[in-house]
Parts: sequence; structure tokens; C-alpha cells
Amino acid sequence: MSTIKKILIANRGEIALRVLRACKELGIASVAVHSTADADAMHVRLADESVCIGPPPSRDSYLNIHEIVAACEITHADAVHPGYGFLSENAKFADILDAHGITFIGPTADHIRLMGDKITAKQTAQELGIPVVPGSDGEVKPENAMEIARQIGFPVLIKATAGGGGRGMKVARTEDDLMEALNTARSEAAAAFGNDAVYMEKYLEKPRHIEIQVFGDGEGNAIHLGERDCSLQRRHQKVWEEANSPALTLEQRMKIGQICADAMKKLKYRGAGTIEFLYENGEFYFIEMNTRLQVEHPVTEAITGIDLVYEQIRVASGQGLSVTQDEVVFRGHAIECRINAEDPRNFTPSPGTITHFHAPGGLGVRVDSGAYAGYKIPPYYDSLIGKLIVHGRDRRECLMRLRRVLDEFVIDGIKTTLPLFQDLVSNTDIEAGEYDIHWLEKYLAADSH
Ligand code: ADP
Repeated sequence: MSTIKKILIANRGEIALRVLRACKELGIASVAVHSTADADAMHVRLADESVCIGPPPSRDSYLNIHEIVAACEITHADAVHPGYGFLSENAKFADILDAHGITFIGPTADHIRLMGDKITAKQTAQELGIPVVPGSDGEVKPENAMEIARQIGFPVLIKATAGGGGRGMKVARTEDDLMEALNTARSEAAAAFGNDAVYMEKYLEKPRHIEIQVFGDGEGNAIHLGERDCSLQRRHQKVWEEANSPALTLEQRMKIGQICADAMKKLKYRGAGTIEFLYENGEFYFIEMNTRLQVEHPVTEAITGIDLVYEQIRVASGQGLSVTQDEVVFRGHAIECRINAEDPRNFTPSPGTITHFHAPGGLGVRVDSGAYAGYKIPPYYDSLIGKLIVHGRDRRECLMRLRRVLDEFVIDGIKTTLPLFQDLVSNTDIEAGEYDIHWLEKYLAADSH
């Protein structure tokens, strides 16, 4: 029995619904919060209680800590699940909840802070025995940039220490490019994050993005749940994710997974986390750690059979993990497609009213979406409207099933990225699992989508 009786879900869309479903299954009462634009949203309809926390802009509603804490007080919620995005990696939010005696379903505020700054995150990772990308020891200033770049060797990548969403990142291929790349990265970082500090890394030419799912109980026990391959990206945003990675052997998976689990044991990490790597020529290079549940967590759930939100709630209520590393078994293959309300040719947002909605079904098919026929997609938020997750006994079966399922999915009235996935699923490189982090951009540039 969980000591948590009522969870307030400080999020919207498919992830709010995802958390809500876990609460229902566990017999925990749920509170939805919403902006005025989301009054008709599915997570509001299905929750036991709901509280309007402000007008449409996120900063006035889903990012409004004061309103969210007030909603907890009014409804007597004893815990908050932050989902992903919004306040999920906000250490101040975790501290404030703590001060109010409300459980934050996530890691400690200190661990959020540690991993939120890219330089301290990288230093910590290195100390914990995780392989990192060669680069500067800390912040890079214009006066020492050339010396550091020469030591690392060109090409180099300039990255914002406060980075996120791929902003404030610039490649310098040669010495001639360096100062311009540095200045552009610094001004982009200042504009996006109010902080112009940057650091430098070796630029990897053709890596894959492979991340390890970890879980800790906060007491020094930790496990890994294998990897996800998220190399198919557009503008550093993941589009398609799969588990296992077509590039890794079981031995490689268990080796890097164990390194990450051991690191989390040393850190006494609590809750779900993702350690992100670039992977090239058989080597892993840490880039960052996300201290929350990820959008793509369902592919891990599909191949392990473990409900990650259950596990988060268990750990937050002090019950520890439900499985040991030896009990984790990887079965089959899973692929997730992120369905965005966007024009599939140019990715411009396509908000509006969904006139018809038919979700596919059958063995190994999961649709996580708050969309329904008649739902009006508000223009204020992220364009992700659903995720399609398909599981098969092996990758071939998974692709066969995905092909069928994509044909069955109907979302009318708005434009969506479904047609992109119909193209990708039959592409020979994708079928062969041969792609790196630049593949999708090249494909989109070459094809007249
Ligand atoms: P952000 O937090 O802005 O998303 P990340 O450090 O996670 O930044 O990097 C985002 C993406 O940028 C990676 O998935 C990868 O595609 C690319 N990238 C980051 N570091 C490097 C590197 N050293 N070499 C090549 N590409 C990189």
C-alpha cells in the first residue's frame, strides 16, 4: 500500500493522462490542474478533481508554482507528479513542495541542480565513472577558446552551460570558424537562457543518440532498464525512438547499463533518470542526464513490462524498487512515433479541431494521447498530441506491425506527422537500423516532403 493517497499532476496532455492512469490503477486519488485553454482536456475529464490554475500562457499556469502549491493545499494532495517539461526539472519547485510537506515525485532538489548545469553534470558523471565527450574542463572564455579548441582538436562544438532544446550550440570546423561560432553561441545562450556561459566539446561526426534508463531508490540501490535509441531527430528534437538500439549487442547494453546503475548507486539517486550518450565507433560519450520521466519511456515499458510511473510512485513513498537488476528481462522490440499536430512537409504547427479520431488497436499496440473527435488543440503549447508505441517479438515484427497500425490511425481536421512515419517505416535505411543523428535531417532535405 502506498503512503501517498492523493497525487496532483502538474502537467497537461498525454503525460498528464499517463500519470492519471497509473494513479487510478494504484487506487490513488488524482487532481488535474489546467489552464483556461485546457478546460475540456481529457486529463481534466478523467481526474477525480480538477483545479484551474490560470490563463493559457504556461508561465501563468503550468509554470506558476504559487498556483500549483495553492491547488495542492485546497485539494489536500500529498504528492505532486510533474510529468516532463514544465516544472519537472525545477529544483526550486521541489524545494518549495518540500517546505510545504508535499512529496515531489522525482529526485532531490540537489540532484536536479547538479544535473541541470551541464558543466557540473559532466564533471559529476566523470567522477562517477561514466565516459564523457572530450572537452573543456569548464566554462570557455573568448581569451582561452583557441588554446582549448586546439587541445581538443577540430571540429569542436560550443554549447551553452544552461543549454536545452539544442539552443546555444554551434560547430566550429576550423580555426577560422572558432570565434564566430563562439560569439553566436554566447549570444544565443544569453537570449534563450539569460546566461551566456559556454563550454566546448569534441564534435562527433556521425554518432547515434543512445540513452540509458536508470532508477534509484534514494538509499543506494539502483538499476538500469536498458537503452533507447533516439537518433532520429529533427532540430535536436526526437521524432522516433526505439528499444533496444539496433546498434548494440546484449553485452554492450549490459556493460554501459551497469556503469550507469553503479553511478546512480554512488550518487544515491532517487527515482527515474535518463543518462544520455552519443555513441560512435563502439564508444559511449555522456552528454547529459535528465532527472525525470522521458517522453519516450513507453518503449522501455514495452520491452521490460515494468510500469515506470508505478515505480516512481513506489520510490517516492519510500517503498523502494519493485525489481532487482536480475529480475529485469528485455523482451522483443518496441518503437515509438511522436505524433505532432504539424504539417508533415514543413513542420509548421497545425492547431485546430480534430473532426475524426480513430486510434489503432491489436496486439502490441499502445496509443498515449489526450486527443479525441471534437477536441480543439490549443495553440499555446507543445505540438505533441499523441504517441504511438508498437511492440513485437523482434524488430522485424515490430516494423511489420507499425506499418499496419499507421495505416489504421485516423486523425482528421488537422495536419499531423503521421505521413512522415508512413514514409520512414518502409525506408531501407530505417529497416536496416542504419541511421545516425543526422540521418533524418538529410532525408528531409533530400526528399521533397
Ligand atoms: P540539449 O540539452 O540542448 O538538448 P544535448 O547536450 O542533449 O543538448 O545535445 C542535443 C543534441 O545535440 C544531441 O542529441 C546531439 O544530436 C547533438 N550533440 C550534442 N553534443 C554533441 C557533440 N559533442 N558532437 C555532436 N553532436 C552533439
